[in-house]
Amino acid sequence: MRFLIRNPRTGQAEGTFDGTAPEDVGSLIQSIRRAQIEWEGAGVVARAKGLQIFADRLNDKVWREKLIEALSADTGRRTESFTEISGLTSTLQRWISYAFENAGLWQAESVMPTAIPNFTQQCARDAVPVVGVISPWNFPLLLSFVDTVPALLAGCGVIIKPSEVTPRWAFVMKELLESVPVVGTVCRIAEGGAQTGEAVVDRVDAVCFTGSVGVGRKVAVRAAERLIPAHLELGGKDAAIVFADADVESAVRSLLWGCTANAGQSCLSIERIYVQSDVYPQFIHTMREKIEGLISRSPVIEWMAPVISPAQVAVIESHLRDARAQGACIETGGCWEDAPQGVNIMAPTLITQVHHGMSIMSEESFAPFIPVMPFKTESEAVGLANDSRYGLSAAVYSSDATTLKRVSDALEASAVSLNDCGLTAFLHQCAKSPRKESGAGLSRMGADGLLRFMRKKAVLKKSAAEQADPWWYPLSSPSRN
Ligand code: NAD
Repeated sequence: MRFLIRNPRTGQAEGTFDGTAPEDVGSLIQSIRRAQIEWEGAGVVARAKGLQIFADRLNDKVWREKLIEALSADTGRRTESFTEISGLTSTLQRWISYAFENAGLWQAESVMPTAIPNFTQQCARDAVPVVGVISPWNFPLLLSFVDTVPALLAGCGVIIKPSEVTPRWAFVMKELLESVPVVGTVCRIAEGGAQTGEAVVDRVDAVCFTGSVGVGRKVAVRAAERLIPAHLELGGKDAAIVFADADVESAVRSLLWGCTANAGQSCLSIERIYVQSDVYPQFIHTMREKIEGLISRSPVIEWMAPVISPAQVAVIESHLRDARAQGACIETGGCWEDAPQGVNIMAPTLITQVHHGMSIMSEESFAPFIPVMPFKTESEAVGLANDSRYGLSAAVYSSDATTLKRVSDALEASAVSLNDCGLTAFLHQCAKSPRKESGAGLSRMGADGLLRFMRKKAVLKKSAAEQADPWWYPLSSPSRN
């Protein structure tokens, strides 16, 4: 299948590419299977050294520049492209250090006696042979490697199926991987769309999927038919609660970033804000002032990320249309900036008079929207925040430690930031189990991020052949007759 290569910063199509055909996915995975045996057998120290060569290559000026160019053309964002590459190098360093500090993980546990005389047991570990990583467009490099790095360290081979919406960086990465054969033989890339993704799910031993709820469900069903594990990181509609005793100025600063960074096109964007009535007017006033200050300093099209695709533009327009039709008040923004044909950029859009009957408060928008609703009591705020099919992350602002604790305990979200938002983008040591429709499977953060790629094997031993037969052998023991 042929795909268009588009630049969201110019609105222009810049070529086409062909997706990897399902039969070619099969032969790629066969070659990974062959290479994985040696990769796993080499041991964790050799694998960490291999990944260090890959990390050094990423830091090489020429490769770095090529990747930044490709990522910037894919996403229309230059600063975030730098951030993605430094995010990947720090992810590599973190996991490499973890592997050295926890090398014992790769050894079988010590032999343990059992309650039955002359029998012992031991737990060994081996790697899932080939993991399929299917990634989205919004942070295409980082989200392709966030699962790949720990899987490779665990001893797995990996096939990455990046998003067809942002393909250029993957062309460069393919070349880079080929220049580091120790990693490039066990980590391969198959470009393409849904069909290529399906071909991956049909052939791997486990799948890590990051993307929308709708596609995640299809991947989960397909994986279930093959009885392979599926680790799913899906969409969200993250809520923030601001209590009257919070530092409103600081809450506004962080939430303006949390709602509009990358034009709201991050899974952990804050997409709805609940503010206690006593400080609601102050919150709206401060937010409006900050937005206007930003806009007056430089044109929005210079600092706001473009909306990635026409499909995403259609979602944004439908959420705005629905909100307006139901009486929402668009306090700032809410229309497209003057930009070249095909380029879609929107200023931070502060929206009031909203309710949960509007799609802007219930469905993932992936837009620079800041919809704000007042509340009176803590239980009302928790009820509103939990009134969602999503459970990705949330944020709570208060100066009272007991309120923060009570509310974070009550929120149905897999990560909660206190007095800030989106902290899972920077802090990765704490595991978070997916909740509601925002995911399934084991955490990609914390130690689980690596352990989920290691299978346990129980090795159970009868100590000596001359020992008496155990009691469960049928009628074999004369004493039982
Ligand atoms: P998407 O679900 O449309 O696509 C994700 C990937 O799945 C792409 O590579 C696509 O080609 C592939 N795909 C499509 N159909 C497939 C099929 N039938 N079988 C296998 N693969 C298939 O998502 P998107 O639009 O690229 O990304 C945006 C979504 O990702 C948002 O919902 C966002 O919240 C979510 N996301 C979640 C996280 C997280 O960590 N929870 C992180 C980033 C993005």
